[in-house]
Amino acid sequence: MLGLMQSWPLTVDKILDHAARWHGHREIVTRSVEGPIVRGTYAECHDRAKRVSSALKGWGVKLGDRVATLAWNTQRHMEAWYGIMGIGAVCHTLNPRLFPEQIAWIINHAEDRIIFVDLTFVGVLEQILPKCPTVERVVVMTDAWNMPQTTLPRAECYEQVVAESSNVCEWGGFSEETACGLCYTSGTTGDPKGVMYSHRSNFLHTLVGLQADVLATSVRDTILPVVPMFHANAWGVAFAAPAVGAKLVLPGAKMDGQSIYELLSTERVTTSAAVPTVWQMLLTHLQSHGLKLPDLERVTIGGAACPETIIRAFHDDYGVDVFHAWGMTETSPLGTTGSLTPEVSSQPFDQQVPYRLKQGRPPIGIELKLTDDEGNILPHDGKTFGHLMVRGSFVAGSYFKGAGGNILDKQGFFDTGDIATIDPIGYMQITDRAKDVVKSGGEWISTIDIENIALGHPAAEQTAVIGVPHPKWDERPILIVKLKEGETATRQDFLDFLQGKIAKWWMPDDVVFVDDIPLGATGKIDKKVLRARLKDYRLPSASPEPA
Ligand code: AMP
Repeated sequence: MLGLMQSWPLTVDKILDHAARWHGHREIVTRSVEGPIVRGTYAECHDRAKRVSSALKGWGVKLGDRVATLAWNTQRHMEAWYGIMGIGAVCHTLNPRLFPEQIAWIINHAEDRIIFVDLTFVGVLEQILPKCPTVERVVVMTDAWNMPQTTLPRAECYEQVVAESSNVCEWGGFSEETACGLCYTSGTTGDPKGVMYSHRSNFLHTLVGLQADVLATSVRDTILPVVPMFHANAWGVAFAAPAVGAKLVLPGAKMDGQSIYELLSTERVTTSAAVPTVWQMLLTHLQSHGLKLPDLERVTIGGAACPETIIRAFHDDYGVDVFHAWGMTETSPLGTTGSLTPEVSSQPFDQQVPYRLKQGRPPIGIELKLTDDEGNILPHDGKTFGHLMVRGSFVAGSYFKGAGGNILDKQGFFDTGDIATIDPIGYMQITDRAKDVVKSGGEWISTIDIENIALGHPAAEQTAVIGVPHPKWDERPILIVKLKEGETATRQDFLDFLQGKIAKWWMPDDVVFVDDIPLGATGKIDKKVLRARLKDYRLPSASPEPA
């Protein structure tokens, strides 16, 4: 027997419809790519998104066609998103931080028909489009005044397209299972793979993201997503903010400490989301200029493990609560968040810190399990390392065009490629990427743990741990350090600093100082590049026995 409730397909166009109708006057503030701060509203964004849809229809875009964006977080990018998705086309967010050849490969794989591009990336597209035969048209997201001279074939000016198109265009009317968004993983192993979100998965992810224990966004919030819309859907903020009518502040192309501070301060932002490197830049800016952020209440930090120094600086010096979150492109991306359970929140802050450092617990809609190499379930004792497996209503079931074959185990769980522990009260902690973990004498050493503890050394700006071959133990960890400008420290200073904070046999065999630690296209330390740079490195000495 079926239920007798109304059929109301969960399609994301309803989110912007709702925002325009019930929160139409709420602001969207953008640091435009052209420079000035510009102000719009949800009502205006909705009207203009409809015009984008009309234009796309006029160009023959149909249900399921891929339309790409190569753009920063701006109101125009939001309009393009909803304009594309509203008519059942697939919004394919391209990551401009990838190499041009990778972008071209991805465009061809996705068979994108149209690309919306920011001024910043017109040059890149000019370079690669001759190799992308499926692309029929490019829309440059600027006005006539700033429209560049370009060799791009059939280049449209966004503002002209919007002005000349009708704001009457029907949205929705298709199944909630219809494809909605496409985002490629960064392809650290093999070719990039496309994660194809559905309207339903994005809608459910939005509802989950809005929970008090997840992003906790409300109509009273002003939210600034630094995390880009081209990386895992800006963690869902471009859906969650209009869903509740939160004021949205979009940083455009500028994500340095000063630019972010200016927006946080002048727009009185209450909550924000970004990777740890962005927060580190902001904190350095605040500290060096003696600034405060009285309106900022909480920040969500994810994408890479959040160091203790950031959690403490926000709490102690700025009264800001840090929500540590874990997720990935394949999980839409919110997989776990570190909101505090009553057992933890009733403890003094210092005792909460070990839990705040963990990546947290899964919200409804996500199931987690921890397994050994053979797929056997491992205990939740907070100590046993295992493969983190995930299943749920907004987790990828397969990649676009079947890349990678079957990606699920017999119970339908996806292998995240992360190694983690889960403690008795359910807090998951990522200890490594499976391919980065150091295996010494058959035992696993968490590189993330050592990196984050070493980062607490006052002279350290960035730290990374990689494994290097060892004749007796197979592999041993070495610590790589980029020092803060003007600081000095020795190998022994770092080893002394780690003493007593990690197990003896985890102690790095060496400390190597470098001028630069490479970051990948999603802002994470690129250990593949780091290992390649250090391929001729040899260990200085023998190492301690595992405990
Ligand atoms: P991406 O799909 O590019 O967003 O990358 C997802 C990967 O980033 C995850 O599988 C983790 O390895 C890593 N990651 C994301 N959030 C965290 C976090 N809070 N702590 C540690 N690693 C994280």
